[in-house]
This record gives sequence, structure tokens and C-alpha cells, in this order.
Amino acid sequence: STARIPQLSGNDEISDLAQQFNSMLDQIQQYIEQQKQFVGDVSHELRTPVAVIQGHLQLLNRWGKDDPEVLAESLEAATQEATRMNSLIEEMLQLTRAEQVDLKSVHEEADVPAVISQVVDNIQMLHPDFLVQADVDLPPATMVRMNRHHLEQLLIILLDNAVKYSASRKEVHLGADMGQHHLHIVVQDFGLGISAQDQQRIFNRFYRVDKARSRERGGNGLGLSIAYRLVKAYGGDLTVESVENSGSLFKVTLPLKPPATALIAGPDEPT
Ligand code: ADP
Repeated sequence: STARIPQLSGNDEISDLAQQFNSMLDQIQQYIEQQKQFVGDVSHELRTPVAVIQGHLQLLNRWGKDDPEVLAESLEAATQEATRMNSLIEEMLQLTRAEQVDLKSVHEEADVPAVISQVVDNIQMLHPDFLVQADVDLPPATMVRMNRHHLEQLLIILLDNAVKYSASRKEVHLGADMGQHHLHIVVQDFGLGISAQDQQRIFNRFYRVDKARSRERGGNGLGLSIAYRLVKAYGGDLTVESVENSGSLFKVTLPLKPPATALIAGPDEPT
């Protein structure tokens, strides 16, 4: 862009500064491009529900007064679409928040086994026809450096998808264990699976493998992008392994809170 400082020769400090300045400009430019892209995506996603609502309002206006069936159906459909729009807006806010996890949250701690058992119970209660199986190999009160609500949100997104994209086998597994410095959580289903090509893109915002299928199941294509950004914000990683028509395995890695140095061992005491 025009504001860039041209390459300078001679004074090393000044040319270093010029380089730093230029790379800052590039970053800002990139950020602006991303924001533009986001606004474009959002407008595109909001267009569909608004068009659907408008369509039903027109039907209501034309036939609704005389035809009770049109009245009932269009009211129902418009209400449903408004609800969907509401959930889309709520998820977009969550995405923005996941991008700006603040320093305070980064220093919070979450009790992993406690959060897992709470989330698993909730999912089980919401889906009584599923077997939600947790296999947690962690000492009680294993802590990660993470805001508790963010950990809940992450697990809910993955378990919710595992249920949503299941096939005939109504079973979902969650496993957790730890290495020396990291916590590992896996969420596995035996459902539709994801092709190798789509595996590259499911963490992108608004990406849905099958728009119709996802929409029918209530998806906005934001869940995994929220999950991915959250995990990254806390220095972790989120990956997927999947085979089409056989199932998916999502793997979360998060840094553990370093153990407190032995507080229990005091000086020897005579008994
Ligand atoms: P959505 O709200 O549509 O579920 P996500 O961002 O959570 O959005 O997921 C993006 C897409 O990835 C989904 O539309 C779906 O096609 C696919 N997907 C996510 N999780 C799974 C899963 N466990 N099994 C199969 N496909 C999945």
C-alpha cells in the first residue's frame, strides 16, 4: 500500500524501524481484510432467514386474513426462522468473544473431571435415547488453565455435534487422560463421518459439509470455529480424524496447570 516506507540503505537502525513499520502495516491490512470478510459472511448468512421471514409476511398479508391455515403455517414458520436468526446472532457473539479471550480468563482454572461429569450428565439428560459414555482417567480435581465456562462450551459443542451427526448407532464416547504437561480429551461418534477434503474446512466459520442437512439439524456452521478459537486462545490444539459413514474422533489438547510445588511435606516432626 501507499503508506509503506520504501527500502532505505545506509543507517541500520532506521532501516530496521522502517521494516518493523511495514510489517505492522501488513498486519493491520490483514486484520482489516479479515474483518471485511467477516462482515460479508455475516450479511450473507443473515440474508436467508430475513428472506424467509419476508416471504411469510407477504403470504400473511395476501391470504392470512381469509385463510386460517395460511395464517397458522406462516406464523409458525416465521417464528421458527426468527428463533434460528436469534441463535445465529448468539453464536456470532460467542465467536467474537472466543477470539478475544482476555488475560484474566487465561489465568483462571477449571476442574476438568467436575466439568466433564456435569456436561456429560446434561447431554445424557437432553438425549435419553443415546448412550453417552465417559471414560475419564484423571486424578480428582485435575486443573487446566482455562475459564470454566469456556471448557464447558468446548465440550458441549463437540458432544452436541457427535449426537447431531450420528447415524443408527446412538452412542457417544468422551475420553480424558493426561500426559506430563497436557490434558487430552477425545470425543468420538459412530455417525456420518467427514471426508478428508471437508476435514480441512470444518473449523472455518460458517462452513457446513451439507448445508441442507446441517440447517435441518439446527446448525449455523459456527460451533467448531468457536471451539477451535477457544482451544487456540488457551495454547491448545483441536484436530479431527474421521472416516465417512463410520464416525469421527475430535481430539483436544490443553496445557495443564503446573502442579503446585510440594506444600504438604514440612520439616520432620517428632511423634
Ligand atoms: P454446525 O452448527 O453446522 O454443526 P459446526 O461448526 O459445529 O457447525 O460444524 C461444521 C460442520 O462440520 C457441520 O455442519 C457438519 O457438517 C460437520 N461436523 C461437525 N461435527 C461433526 C461430526 N461429529 N460428525 C460429522 N460431521 C460433523
